Amino acid sequence: MNKPIAVVTGASAGIGAATARHLAAAGFHVVLGARRLDRLTEVADSVGGTAIELDVTDPASVAAFADRVPECHALVNNAGGAKGLERVDAADEDNWNWMYEANVLGTLRVTKALLPKLIASGNGHVVTVTSIAAIEVYDGGSGYTAAKHAQSALHRTLRGEHLGEPVRFTEVLPGMVETEFSLVRFNGDTTRANKVYEGITPLTADDVAEVIAFALTRPPHVNLDQIVLKPRAQASATRAHRTG
Ligand code: NAP
Repeated sequence: MNKPIAVVTGASAGIGAATARHLAAAGFHVVLGARRLDRLTEVADSVGGTAIELDVTDPASVAAFADRVPECHALVNNAGGAKGLERVDAADEDNWNWMYEANVLGTLRVTKALLPKLIASGNGHVVTVTSIAAIEVYDGGSGYTAAKHAQSALHRTLRGEHLGEPVRFTEVLPGMVETEFSLVRFNGDTTRANKVYEGITPLTADDVAEVIAFALTRPPHVNLDQIVLKPRAQASATRAHRTG
């Protein structure tokens, strides 16, 4: 295979699925990972990519996934999300555990498993999708913001540890994006999830995917370190202009 290989985690939906489409259009062979293999296969088939089941919270699943990736030029750590919106005094430890496992340890496991192949490619690139929750806090968001701050710290540490090696590191920090994110956060409650996007034009998954593809297609000496993108109507995690 002479196309460069890009691995995208959490590619069965939302930002990950859109990223798979944009990277395939940019000339990558895309290897897609997520838990829902039926949806993953559908996305993979539509872009001529390869779907491989992956649960980033399970070390054995990550190891089996990485074994099936022959070489790797780009890795997009996108799998993750939020669960719940409880204040600290009502924190749900199961939600915290899930957010740490999926966002922080998941990114650690997949990156650690694929870094040797990324470096061996001679021009590796790791993109990690954190969030503005990695640089802000908000009421009820402690579990998610703590996990995203930690994921960001892990990602930014790699930039220094691999300085001088042929691998780049880009952190993408989106604000509000309309995906299944809020549905997952609110445990399938569509009314509550839809309210998040009321009266505002949020980013789309494609908006974020385009930025990821842009970062991944710069010349090898150019490292876009951090990219923050938000809807025009969103100034911060807690301040948005809504109509109606
Ligand atoms: P989404 O539509 O819910 O997609 C999340 C993806 O992650 C799905 O493909 C899901 O696939 C996958 N995933 C979840 N747990 C996984 C696991 N244990 N192993 C492997 N894959 C897993 O949400 P999204 O908005 O696209 O989120 C993508 C990333 O962007 C997340 O890291 C999120 O925190 C971040 N982000 C989102 C927003 C936003 O407003 N939407 C803003 C900033 C940052 P399966 O369920 O099939 O495994």
